[in-house]
Amino acid sequence: MKNPQYKRVVLKLSGEALSGENGYGIDHNILRTIALEVKEVNDRNVEVAIVVGGGNIWRGVAGSTKGMDRATADYMGMLATVINSLALQDALEKEGVDTRVQTAIEMREVAEPYIRRRAIRHLEKGRVVIFAGGTGNPFFSTDTTAALRAAEIEADVILMAKNVDAVYDSDPRINPAAQKFTELKYMDLLKNGLGVMDSTAASLCMDNQIPIIVFGIRDTGNVLKAVMGEKIGTVVGRNQMNDVLKQTESKMKRTVDLLVKDYTTMRAGRATPALLEKVFADYYGTPTPINQMATISVPESRLLVIQPWDRNMVPQIEKAILKSDLGITPVSDGNVIRLAIPTLTEEKRKDLVKVVNKKAEEGRIAIRNLRREANDQVKDADKKGDVSEDEAKRYLNDIQDLTDKYIKNIDQVAEAKEKEILEI
Ligand code: UDP
Repeated sequence: MKNPQYKRVVLKLSGEALSGENGYGIDHNILRTIALEVKEVNDRNVEVAIVVGGGNIWRGVAGSTKGMDRATADYMGMLATVINSLALQDALEKEGVDTRVQTAIEMREVAEPYIRRRAIRHLEKGRVVIFAGGTGNPFFSTDTTAALRAAEIEADVILMAKNVDAVYDSDPRINPAAQKFTELKYMDLLKNGLGVMDSTAASLCMDNQIPIIVFGIRDTGNVLKAVMGEKIGTVVGRNQMNDVLKQTESKMKRTVDLLVKDYTTMRAGRATPALLEKVFADYYGTPTPINQMATISVPESRLLVIQPWDRNMVPQIEKAILKSDLGITPVSDGNVIRLAIPTLTEEKRKDLVKVVNKKAEEGRIAIRNLRREANDQVKDADKKGDVSEDEAKRYLNDIQDLTDKYIKNIDQVAEAKEKEILEI
């Protein structure tokens, strides 16, 4: 089966997309349909972040034209997006999708506050993250929120789900002769308006080269189609080959990041809090990483000191360390746990170096596989005549450059780790 074209997407739903025929409130059947569409995509391991508008409940501009203070009216609009986000969260969870709502305006009883790195972690764990409360600032829109969050979390694309199936030169509901666009440049959005998104959002997308796919949410299956790279709706600012390069680079970068992460949890001679990353202690029935229940410090290069926030956790943490594959016996005085990192034996060092090299080689193979996949896409586009022969050559060169860069990166990372292990 074909692989999804995108790894991480931001789905922008207008508030109206949640409402029924009258454009107001929330229609539960529609909500469920949308939840199922998101689930379908999430099931294919595509990371989905969602930004929902609030136009089905309240629009700031409408309030201010009636004499209300614009900022106040906008804050009301932001709160409306929270209502929609919670409704969507409920619908998704009913379909068995793990979700988190993060709000730009703190309301901890209701949802997490927006924390970029945390949002990324949720996505990596396969949770759907719903960004509520807009940007947290008046005078902005949820389109701008989608563009901003997409840039922040380095999403590959923004999927703009609308009530119309594409971008037209005039409203197709009023003008039956309206002309449909299949591709547009960012500048077209900025110069001609076109009602896709406001200019702040469009320029953010342009500056950060985030492609946008505009499509109709009323036709079921469109979210999946968009993610699979099928031609639907209107595509803005996408250059197919640049996309291939961008995605290849981000996948290569992730390969190196994973390797680095993997290395940090390998015990060399030196003490580092990362050693405890994979150690989970029982926190009143919940397996919890130690760094989430204690302060970990490194007073000396071979000593880790764990200071649990709750004294009752001392025995649990000790137990977890003993059970782990760290091979270190913790010493505690009832308040603090000390972990002395023993010097490694010569034999152990050699074994570890072997593991380091093996992991590095796996990384190199992954990078080469990514090169092959990207090359195939360029060759395919060349065959179909989507790119000229010269362009294809240039892209193949660019892909080779990326490959060289990331393989060199792996070499450097592996060399540094090996040095660390051999250090006496
Ligand atoms: N809003 C805001 N700042 C933001 C996002 C939203 O002030 O960063 C307010 C604004 O009043 C807007 C309302 O929230 O009219 C609802 O959002 P939007 O109109 O973008 O919703 P949609 O049209 O997508 O339903």
